[in-house]
Amino acid sequence: MSQISNIAVLGAGVIGASWTALFLAAGRDVTVYDPAPDTERKVNDYIGTAWSALEALGLASGGPGGRVSFARTAADAAAKADFIQENVPERLPLKHAIYAEIEPVLSKTTIVSSSTSGLTLEALQDGWNDPANFVLGHPFNPPHLIPLVELTANEKTDPAALDATEAFYEAIGKVTIRIRKGMPGHVANRLQAAVWREAVFMAIEGVASVEDIDKAMWAGPGLRWAAMGPTMLFHLGAGDGGLQAFCNHFRDTFNGWWDGLGDPRLDEAVIEKLVAGMNDQARGHSPRDLSQQRDRMLVALQTATRSLRDPCVD
Ligand code: NAD
Repeated sequence: MSQISNIAVLGAGVIGASWTALFLAAGRDVTVYDPAPDTERKVNDYIGTAWSALEALGLASGGPGGRVSFARTAADAAAKADFIQENVPERLPLKHAIYAEIEPVLSKTTIVSSSTSGLTLEALQDGWNDPANFVLGHPFNPPHLIPLVELTANEKTDPAALDATEAFYEAIGKVTIRIRKGMPGHVANRLQAAVWREAVFMAIEGVASVEDIDKAMWAGPGLRWAAMGPTMLFHLGAGDGGLQAFCNHFRDTFNGWWDGLGDPRLDEAVIEKLVAGMNDQARGHSPRDLSQQRDRMLVALQTATRSLRDPCVD
């Protein structure tokens, strides 16, 4: 696969605008296509807002960055691209329509990566005549601040396309994982869903307030999980005996807890209770204000730990 220097971003909403900022910071030229009115202003505003965080994270240290331009059609954006990040709304007919539009203009080596959270690779491949260079590159929101990208390919994918996609994402500062077996939610969203299911269950049961359940996470395991994953942390939880000793010691405890985990559903009554609890916790601060606080903390956490992180990621 050739050097990736020209990127097309298709769909520039929440995810596409963030990808655009990251690609530009990494010195790539980006052509954006999004049919929404005012796309150019919104994307430029987003880039302006994101830039200081990208600099703080060391992701924009290479000078002024790439150039951004705006195309009138998806095919125009795709025609000169080495790499395409597709972020159109999560609806299969829309995704198929845009693949059908761009496929005839792609070069033989252009890689197309979909940000889809919930659609399967197999369903998306149905929109292609030849899906060899089509992969899933699922980011975590916002992609310019959260390193993770989950990669999915299958037997219809050219292995070289997957390797090149992985190498490209890693070159621009992402941390990638490969999904070996497709499952709804990939890996990270399933982990989130499992934890949130129990948080919701405990709120319904009145075990603690919504605020205190959230606090138990960010002041407890959440802080450790920002350092290492759950299995590694338990490897450290029983002294020199490592994970084997931990499992020997806590096997019955965990099996018992797992038997008692909740299985709630987000029905109207449950949602009402969660929203009331969240209104108490937010204390009048808007989601926009709280998002800015979250983003400042994400930057500060990663900046502070950058020099400690590298040996563990390798
Ligand atoms: P969004 O609604 O914020 O943005 C979608 C954008 O696509 C809009 O700006 C819309 O104008 C544009 N669009 C609509 N039709 C289009 C077309 N034919 N061609 C080009 N652009 C078109 O949605 P989002 O949250 O950015 O999600 C985009 C993709 O990213 C989805 O597949 C979603 O599953 C995935 N994703 C979302 C999140 C998240 O947290 N929001 C996280 C990871 C992945």
